[in-house]
Amino acid sequence: MLDDDEMLSVVLETMFRRLGVPSVSSLNDSIEAIEMLKIKPTSHDLIMLDLMMPGLDGIEFLSELADIGFPGHVILMSGVDRPILASLQRLGNRRLSIIGVLEKPIRISALRALLSGIDETPTTSRRMLPRTSTRAITDGMLKCEFMPYFQPKINLRSGRVTGFEALARWRRTNGRIMSPASFVSLAEKKGLIHELDLSILEQTLAYQRKWQDAGFRLTAAVNCSAPTLGRAKFADAVLGALRRHRVEPSDLLLELTESILIEDASSAMENILRLHLYGVRLSMDDFGTGYSSLRYLSQIPFSELKVDQCFVTAATGDPAKLAIIEHSVNLARKLALVVVCEGVESAEDATLVGALGADLGQGYYYSKPLPPEDFLNWTHAFNTLGEL
Ligand code: C2E
Ligand code: CA
Ligand code: CA
Repeated sequence: MLDDDEMLSVVLETMFRRLGVPSVSSLNDSIEAIEMLKIKPTSHDLIMLDLMMPGLDGIEFLSELADIGFPGHVILMSGVDRPILASLQRLGNRRLSIIGVLEKPIRISALRALLSGIDETPTTSRRMLPRTSTRAITDGMLKCEFMPYFQPKINLRSGRVTGFEALARWRRTNGRIMSPASFVSLAEKKGLIHELDLSILEQTLAYQRKWQDAGFRLTAAVNCSAPTLGRAKFADAVLGALRRHRVEPSDLLLELTESILIEDASSAMENILRLHLYGVRLSMDDFGTGYSSLRYLSQIPFSELKVDQCFVTAATGDPAKLAIIEHSVNLARKLALVVVCEGVESAEDATLVGALGADLGQGYYYSKPLPPEDFLNWTHAFNTLGEL
């Protein structure tokens, strides 16, 4: 515990003991604390940090802590505004595990909630992504180990599933399922993403066809990286796949981020226009996070806008997030775009984005991305429950 308020330290120590934490040390000098951690970074599992301290302030302390590679967790405490704590948490989380913020006065229930969320695997192994190589990815492709998981998109007015997003997963021979964070950017750098994206598309269309035959007509959304879209004849490959699987072009959405036109702008634009001409719909992914989202909105014939999850999750009571969602919805209305809010994690998030006028919601509150074999049962159950 790092706080210059001795009274608070005593209170916190009592709380920790009541929560069953066996050993607590309190320090009121941040420089001394850093020196101690430099000698043995693993000496503490958790640091409770007051942001306002003499010596190093909390922000300087976090930076030093990251430099020495502190593998444990941090909880921030302060009397300052919540937006500052939240920004600091995001900043710090690139290099540290900041598991939460507590506003003073600190309540034991809030502390208990944070502690119960701690993942007890050692931080070092948790933060390291599994190592992959180009060779492993090519091997995996040959063995057809890449497959889509599907996350439902819910119509906020009818409460029904209208479609889904395909999210790539790598099912290794050892049974481990790997997320895109561990392979997408490598595949992009090594020129493999085009093949990967097309394989996900192909598999997605096959399911879509099968489900349509079973009476579920759902819109599929597939992610598309910049190099994929910049590839000559990409539009032909998509249109060919649609024909093979007898899926209507308008039942397919391609999710594009704004990095798309950075690669090969002219062939990307050619693909975009041809796909649009044949009726494939385009969705602007991660809206609001880039530098030129608005420019792309004016240049590309999008039919859907996805408000990025960083504005949606826990937006209630956050004036900046609320303003951004509201602004995105208004903009989308004027451009006749469907608005999707991603990152709906709670009932509160869902109610809020519905009230702000978004059309569709997507997020853990409804469902995580599901393996294909579970998706249809889930959809059927969700729609049926909604009717009751
Ligand atoms: P994205 O397109 O923005 O996809 C949304 C990500 O947010 C997914 O992560 C999804 O699992 C996650 N997510 C969904 N609901 C929630 C929620 O309520 N809260 C939070 N915190 N997260 C939520 P995932 O599956 O790990 O994919 C990460 C990114 O990898 C995707 O971001 C997309 O950019 C990329 N990606 C995924 N599949 C493909 C693919 O087939 N091709 C390409 N090129 N990129 C892909
Ligand atoms: Ca996406
Ligand atoms: Ca997104």
